[in-house]
Amino acid sequence: MTEKILNGIVSKYECEAKKNQSIAPYTSFRIGGCVDFMLFPQSTEALAGACCELKEKGIRFMVMGNGSNLLFPDHGYRGVVVVTTELKNITVNGNIITAECGASLTKLAGSALENSLTGFEFAYGIPGSVGGAVYMNAGAYVSEVSEVLKSCTCFDTNTCEILTLDNADCDFSYRNSIFEKSGNRYVILDAVFELSKGDKDVIRAQMNEFMSKRREKQPLEYPSAGSAFKRAPGYFTAKLIDDAGLKGFCIGGAQVSTKHAGFIINAGGATADDVTSLMKHIQKTVKEKFGVDIEGEIRIVE
Ligand SMILES: Cc1cc2nc3c(=O)[nH]c(=O)nc-3n(C[C@H](O)[C@H](O)[C@H](O)COP(=O)(O)OP(=O)(O)OC[C@H]3O[C@@H](n4cnc5c(N)ncnc54)[C@H](O)[C@@H]3O)c2cc1C
Repeated sequence: MTEKILNGIVSKYECEAKKNQSIAPYTSFRIGGCVDFMLFPQSTEALAGACCELKEKGIRFMVMGNGSNLLFPDHGYRGVVVVTTELKNITVNGNIITAECGASLTKLAGSALENSLTGFEFAYGIPGSVGGAVYMNAGAYVSEVSEVLKSCTCFDTNTCEILTLDNADCDFSYRNSIFEKSGNRYVILDAVFELSKGDKDVIRAQMNEFMSKRREKQPLEYPSAGSAFKRAPGYFTAKLIDDAGLKGFCIGGAQVSTKHAGFIINAGGATADDVTSLMKHIQKTVKEKFGVDIEGEIRIVE
């Protein structure tokens, strides 16, 4: 029954499909089991149309961008993972950049540079998509998406309508937004960013400096999902983890990076259970030693 509906969606909308696929290669952690069905919409209309049908037919689904902030369980996902990575158009009009949800942040930063636009340098090197970045208000080096996002077009899964949310509607806070708070009610189709005219050489130098810092400080040679924990107010979380003596600590194939204690890496063959057990161990140890609660930043799929 479900398969018939899914085949109907594929033939009605512009979507590629994969069945019984391991999700691991689609995530930066390289972890996760088999997904029943994956859909790759080829246009934002197809993304909205497919999500509308899935919702109306009561088929469980979730939307994923580059999979760089997600941990899928070892048993995979029963339902449909809708992947946005084919939706990567970026258009520039004066100081306004409009990007489809699957566009890479690094490419977007490159477009801003080409057009001498400043404000997006911070996102250069974040391995995510526009949709994922808006969803979690991605940020780095004291800047974040909320500072440059003007509006975004979304599909509302409650009403099956397409609507525009302005920056203020997105209810942004540190690594959070209406998109997460509403329990995935909205699918982001595209986003509009307002940048400022700047000096190309200065923008390029800033981007290169951020990239060098990433290469120097982050364990980019290993699969991970970036910082495993949010910043605890008043603390540097990586320092707390380091001071708790946890650098290099392993559970199975999951390890606290020896290069950056805020990262959990897949040192080889890590399972989702290894990662979640390690996260719990870190949280417990930091709480016992310093009395500080640290909250996970990685989205754990159930
Ligand atoms: C090496 C490394 C470095 C990183 N550095 C940073 C950093 O400096 N700063 C930072 O903030 N993050 C960082 N990250 C984490 C991650 O790259 C960002 O959070 C990124 O914005 C996630 O985008 P994504 O496309 O990969 O999202 P995904 O991981 O695919 O999804 C994340 C969440 O967004 C939702 N989502 C994705 N697309 C849509 C959409 N179109 N509509 C609705 N919901 C959607 C998903 O359902 C999921 O809940 C890093 C990760 C790695 C691996």
